[in-house]
Amino acid sequence: MITDHNTTAPLEEVKTWDSNELVILSGMEWTTFFGHLLVIGARKVVDWRKATIETIDSSLEEIKAAGGLTGIAHPFSIGSPMCTGCHWDFHVQDYGLIDFIEVWNRLNPDEDFRSQQAYEMWVDLLNQGFRISCSAGRDWHRQEDETDSTALTYVGASADYADVLLANLKKGNYYITLGPKIHLSMKQAGKTYVMGDELRVGDSMLKITLEPTEQAKLKAFNFVGEYLVVWQNDQIIACETIEEGIEKELSLELVPGYLRIEIFGRGKGHSNKRLVISNPFYIGKA
Ligand SMILES: [Zn+2]
Repeated sequence: MITDHNTTAPLEEVKTWDSNELVILSGMEWTTFFGHLLVIGARKVVDWRKATIETIDSSLEEIKAAGGLTGIAHPFSIGSPMCTGCHWDFHVQDYGLIDFIEVWNRLNPDEDFRSQQAYEMWVDLLNQGFRISCSAGRDWHRQEDETDSTALTYVGASADYADVLLANLKKGNYYITLGPKIHLSMKQAGKTYVMGDELRVGDSMLKITLEPTEQAKLKAFNFVGEYLVVWQNDQIIACETIEEGIEKELSLELVPGYLRIEIFGRGKGHSNKRLVISNPFYIGKA
């Protein structure tokens, strides 16, 4: 996914690269005075200049009509006079029009108070009943130093096709991490579910396997997951130790709302760090 400020030029450049290993999803970062909005996969460019603080919903509707996903970039970045427009000031009336919030942005998101603010904004919307995902990204304005870490977004997809990736992003079948990888699914009545799917109330089984990072650079930060926290709506319903490479199963009783997990552990010389955040599974009424 490549997004630049009010232009799709990088996409044209990437198309000329001699590689068929990369699948590129088109996107743009609307860079306005009132906030930065990520638009992914839209079939046409919607005019960002029309968006005003009070009329952002009609722009969001236009993006949706063009098949695009909408995401709020770095909602709590410092705005004017440091970076005009970087703080999210739009008055969204219907957060159902927002697909995701960039909870982890910039280098070393784990060390930044703005990540916590974005996380709280996301959780608050989930608790209000919106089906909204969290994402990780960064503004690539300079090459990072050896001592800087970057968070990653892993998307679950059965094939490396742009339309499959886009469909999984839309649904919320992805998680964000400082490094460690997870395989996460839920089972209910013989069927397997992925993040973003809807389950029913009642018995279910959560399955998760934790793996070390495969990114050469991130290995240096020694992020190691140690325990798993399961949230059901605004409650923690399980907190268990977890070890890399050993599948863990948890039997859970589901109630209407959502269920999501986080992995905590050590890294960068600290402990009890939030290392992985999954997107939710949703639970419908009976
Ligand atoms: Zn931005």
